[in-house]
Amino acid sequence: MNDENIDVLIIGAGPSGSVAAAFLQQKGYKIKVVEKNEFPRFVIGESLLPRCMDHFDEVGLLDCLKARNYELKKGARFIRNDEVCNFDFSKKHTDGWNWTWQVPRADFDKTLTDELIRRGITIDFKKEVVAVKIEENYSITTIKDEHNCLTTIRAKYIIDSSGYGRVLPRLLDLEKPSELPKYGSIFTHVNDSNRPNGVEGTTITFDVISKEAWLWVIPFSDGITSVGYVGPTDFLDSFKGNSSEKLKEMLKLSKYFFPRFEHEDFIFEPREIKNYSKSVKQLYGKGYVLTGNSAEFLDPVFSSGVTFATESALLAAKLITKDLQGKQVNWEEEYAGYMKQGVAVFSTYVKEWYSGNLQKLFFHQPENPEIKSQICAVLAGYVWDKTNPFVTKHKRLIKNIAYLIDMEKEKSE
Ligand code: FAD
Repeated sequence: MNDENIDVLIIGAGPSGSVAAAFLQQKGYKIKVVEKNEFPRFVIGESLLPRCMDHFDEVGLLDCLKARNYELKKGARFIRNDEVCNFDFSKKHTDGWNWTWQVPRADFDKTLTDELIRRGITIDFKKEVVAVKIEENYSITTIKDEHNCLTTIRAKYIIDSSGYGRVLPRLLDLEKPSELPKYGSIFTHVNDSNRPNGVEGTTITFDVISKEAWLWVIPFSDGITSVGYVGPTDFLDSFKGNSSEKLKEMLKLSKYFFPRFEHEDFIFEPREIKNYSKSVKQLYGKGYVLTGNSAEFLDPVFSSGVTFATESALLAAKLITKDLQGKQVNWEEEYAGYMKQGVAVFSTYVKEWYSGNLQKLFFHQPENPEIKSQICAVLAGYVWDKTNPFVTKHKRLIKNIAYLIDMEKEKSE
């Protein structure tokens, strides 16, 4: 086996790997992306947050995405029976992007990789990383192709952007159970032949079925709509039959959307992911860094996955550049510390969503425009803005305001 010598090996060509590759190529490094699948391939994670537009913009990947005319996402709607809470990204506390997209990921990820290839980046599709050996100043990665042939690559750095492949967490024993409760999801695409005209038909909506279970409806610009259910794993397991039968039954629980989807056939047999929250013991080590889902995944309720994937990938690529230029990098502070801050904010929002506290704030009437704009900035992915009290005091503020709402309700009863 011959070692190929490069600066940075990137595992996985999802949004995380693509953003890292684009940045490092701009800086002139010798890089390679190894991707297990052939693209286009299906992956879940179709609703983006405005914050990730900054990342695509910075590495020059925005124009190729704009050309695809994806459905615009200018906010998000949450409904609970007759109650509605609309977030409008143009009314958010933090400056930044006011819109993003709802994207079929197969097309989205292929658009990114096509652009990388056009720029001369090597992506080895249908090749899988199967082993990694970390040495003093480099690592040796073993790659298996579709004919089971093995080759090796010697790299100064590895960026693990392998998503649920979780290559380095598995190979280097970095897995850690998530602190979040065990939830699962079941999802598919439909032709949406009853899609209403105008904003009603294209708005992304989260229908709150119970405190812990909800349905997503994500319309795409090609007329197809993504529908998915999320809930505690035992709730999802309580539905009988195959995944189509289960999802059909679950859709009946949505008063709002059942009439729209009642007669729709599923474009593919619904897929199920159980216990999707993931965590790791450490986000970096000698000669490697974990980005995107390979590092951490919380919950789909606030659509933060792709944004964390691109945020972490861009930061990791910048710090590797600094290191390769011989400058000092404090990985604990500059990478792990920074990423953990953002994860901690979203983690509170996820926990307080399922505790019911955040839902109290969302559906409370009359709305408080200041509080709403601060929460909206978090939902847009701007979770590092220290001027936002819903970022800096995330642990206390949601709980306290939910308590006040309860008190107010008790008094009025
Ligand atoms: P991925 O996009 O998963 O890409 C990883 C790539 O690595 C894959 O192409 C894979 O083939 C490749 N790979 C794996 N193993 C190997 C190997 N051994 N060798 C080489 N290549 C390998 N996020 C959102 O932003 N919005 C949402 O609405 C949303 N909804 C979600 C709903 C559910 C139910 C779940 C579970 C997640 C959701 N997410 C959402 C999260 C989203 O799916 C991920 O956060 C996002 O795809 C992470 O991107 P990535 O680049 O890290 O990984």
